[in-house]
Amino acid sequence: MRKNIVAGNWKMNCNLDESQHLINALKLEDFEQIKAEIIIAPPFTNLYPAHQSLQDSKIKLSAQNLNENENGAFTGEISPEMLKSVGAEYVILGHSERRAIYNETDELLAKKVTTALKHDFKIMFCIGEELDKRQAGKHFEVVENQLKNGLFHISESEMKNIVIAYEPVWAIGTGETASPEQAQEIHAHIRKVLAKKYNENVAEGTSILYGGSVKPNNAKEIFAKKDVDGGLIGGASLDAKSFKAIADSF
Ligand code: PEP
Repeated sequence: MRKNIVAGNWKMNCNLDESQHLINALKLEDFEQIKAEIIIAPPFTNLYPAHQSLQDSKIKLSAQNLNENENGAFTGEISPEMLKSVGAEYVILGHSERRAIYNETDELLAKKVTTALKHDFKIMFCIGEELDKRQAGKHFEVVENQLKNGLFHISESEMKNIVIAYEPVWAIGTGETASPEQAQEIHAHIRKVLAKKYNENVAEGTSILYGGSVKPNNAKEIFAKKDVDGGLIGGASLDAKSFKAIADSF
């Protein structure tokens, strides 16, 4: 059965002190009773101290990106093995900021997915359309192509390590959210696409998160939808009480 998940994407926020402060604040909240997996994705530099601080906690750690190569002359990049060695269990791939600002293509993402799986990462694979595509009614097509070109080279058994995060670009960091109905409609479509490519088991077993301005005041309604299995949270994950309040939706 698929899991509920609430994941916090800290993006390029929090120096080491701030990161440890936020983790300490999260540890004061009681996540144990929540029927969802809880994940945070601090910046690379804060992962190891975060890992040490979270030893006795149910909160899991994710990286925000990785390089598709094993090691070598890639100045400034971080390898999968490095991330594993500092305690990252998950990695976020295909975030719209990586796609738009760093020109990460479906082809590159497909390579990152392969490398990440080789190193036993669980992947939060992000997909989602821009505003003009939504307005033109092309959102179904966009997410389908992102899945086909970035993810669908992997096997049915490898899909067990995949979480999909549907994040409409027009809702990320804008304060604008997809309505619960819009989220449900496209999540159901994503599940159909998974069933067509793999089978019903994969479709029903894959967690599909919604991301895009999820806040304590809208999370419950969105997560209540049948095909929404939780959220990838940006801004609101930087405040322990807000993040906990979102997780409390489960
Ligand atoms: C995100 O960056 O994945 C995200 C959903 O951000 P926000 O919640 O701030 O819109």
